[in-house]
Amino acid sequence: MRFLVVGAGFAGATCARQLAEAGHDVHVVDRREHIAGNAYDHLDEHGVLVHRYGPHIFHTNSDKVFDYLSRYTDWRAYEHRVLASVDGQQVPIPINRTTINTLYGLDLDEAGVAAFLERVREPRESLRTSEDVVLNSVGRELCDKFFRGYTRKQWGRDLSELSAGVAARIPTRTNDDDRYFTDRHQGMPAQGYTALFERLLDHPRIRISLRTDWRDLRQDDVAQGWDRLVYSGPIDEYFGCVLGKLPYRSLRFEHRHVADVDALLLPVGTVNHPNEHGYTRETEFRHLTGQDHTGTSLVREFPTDEGEPYYPIPAAENEALFKQYQAMAEAEAAGGKGVLFVGRLAQYRYYNMDQVVAAALHACEELLAELAAPLSA
Ligand code: FAD
Repeated sequence: MRFLVVGAGFAGATCARQLAEAGHDVHVVDRREHIAGNAYDHLDEHGVLVHRYGPHIFHTNSDKVFDYLSRYTDWRAYEHRVLASVDGQQVPIPINRTTINTLYGLDLDEAGVAAFLERVREPRESLRTSEDVVLNSVGRELCDKFFRGYTRKQWGRDLSELSAGVAARIPTRTNDDDRYFTDRHQGMPAQGYTALFERLLDHPRIRISLRTDWRDLRQDDVAQGWDRLVYSGPIDEYFGCVLGKLPYRSLRFEHRHVADVDALLLPVGTVNHPNEHGYTRETEFRHLTGQDHTGTSLVREFPTDEGEPYYPIPAAENEALFKQYQAMAEAEAAGGKGVLFVGRLAQYRYYNMDQVVAAALHACEELLAELAAPLSA
């Protein structure tokens, strides 16, 4: 069977590989000039390995996903750490024992921090919004210092206007663990993400066309040469936005390079700025990649409404609109050429890379089983 796969990010590339290995011919198209989707990395003009679309740190608790990707890359052991610049100091985020003691000039042990948080938190019966979640766990002052300003910059909305799920991603700790993620597997592809994708897509049955927008191809007779479609682009775009556009938050990335440094400029991989500057955070890539170089490259992220769709905005009305598109997608999947919708744009979810790979593997398993099953009478 001949498959057309729209998108060469983790969703599209994983599906392409699985389908090719099962003996199908796969044509992957991406409108960008490169593979790897948002995980794309490359050497900048100074020779430093940078992530064009912001820092990507791989982390997962799934052995299956980790083992799968390990076929295509070795790993550099790396555990991400983030500091937040608050009240003129740089303190660990997620909030932990060090954060509380540094901020308030205290010397609490774990039980002391737990008691402190119990005293300042504002218990809520129902955790409906992100504000409920944050107030319920750390109270108003820490909420305002760490979360309210950051959220307003990141989402252009107040915490109280966002679903609970956004803040529920961020833990609070009473110990000194200052790792941003605690997953069993954490690291960076040893030669970078793009190299991983080159190997993932390197299969005699896979053909790739870059700078190719499926919306143009769709009108084109050439596109008729496929039997089934795997679509990892935005779900609303697939249907010509007939029900209206699904809102996304975008980012403008400001990359900079500093030549001839004696030491790295940031103390850890990323520094967050909840209450100052127009950008939310700054990341220094050599922390992540471990690359040896005389200079250093960093990126600042400025959230905006315009531009590439990065983050689905988690609010009830958007979820309702997505559900309508999802119903159309289900009808599309069931009929005609049987379209498979995969990835974070087609699912309108903020998925991490490992979740996207897991979902793509699962979707392909189901699809291949369906194709292998004898037709029922
Ligand atoms: P994408 O990577 O977006 O790939 C979709 C591809 O489809 C794109 O290349 C696009 O050009 C193409 N496409 C869309 N429409 C069309 C069309 N009509 N025709 C042709 N091509 C089309 N995850 C983590 O696990 N760890 C992190 O640290 C992390 N950091 C992140 C930081 C930022 C700033 C962002 C934005 C995301 C981050 N993520 C992180 C999430 C990660 O980027 C996603 O999980 C992953 O890239 C999703 O893969 P995907 O294939 O679904 O989508």
